[in-house]
Amino acid sequence: MDLNALSVEEFNMQIYNCRKCRLWQGAKHGGPGEGPLNAKLMLVGQNPGADEDEAGRPFVGRAGKFLTKTLAEYGIKREDTFITNIVKHVSSKNRKPFDDEVRACLPYLIAQIRLVKPEIIVLLGESAKETPRIDGIEYIQIIHPSAAMRFTKMGEKFRQQIAELAKRIQKN
Ligand code: SF4
Repeated sequence: MDLNALSVEEFNMQIYNCRKCRLWQGAKHGGPGEGPLNAKLMLVGQNPGADEDEAGRPFVGRAGKFLTKTLAEYGIKREDTFITNIVKHVSSKNRKPFDDEVRACLPYLIAQIRLVKPEIIVLLGESAKETPRIDGIEYIQIIHPSAAMRFTKMGEKFRQQIAELAKRIQKN
């Protein structure tokens, strides 16, 4: 199936009804991601957590709120970004998704990147490094907001990274 031939609603339904790996079994809601389809900035995390599973939306828990607030402090509105995860269903006890689960889910993210065609993709933490690389897009890895919240030094570095990102966007 050509995922890019689908409307957003049809695409999201594919994820809600997806059974391509085992993760749907323990999830309440799939989380396709959200944001404008012409976003210049895409933010990618690893997988939804419990709050995201409950809401069916990415980065809505404490770390997500911290991310949203920090972006706003540097003039980046979350609603102007497309935000999603590599894997679209929560995993038990928030374990790292297995390789076969990542492989099964990656076509959704690839389709989203092709659809949105962002200028920059921000990888939220080391765990987002499996995000596929597509020519013509700049990839920037930053500290995961949950680590930035908990550790002072990482929090300072995270702020620097967001400040640099804001400057980088203004240049474009
Ligand atoms: S995690 Fe991805 S591949 Fe696995 S069931 Fe959910 S949408 Fe499908």
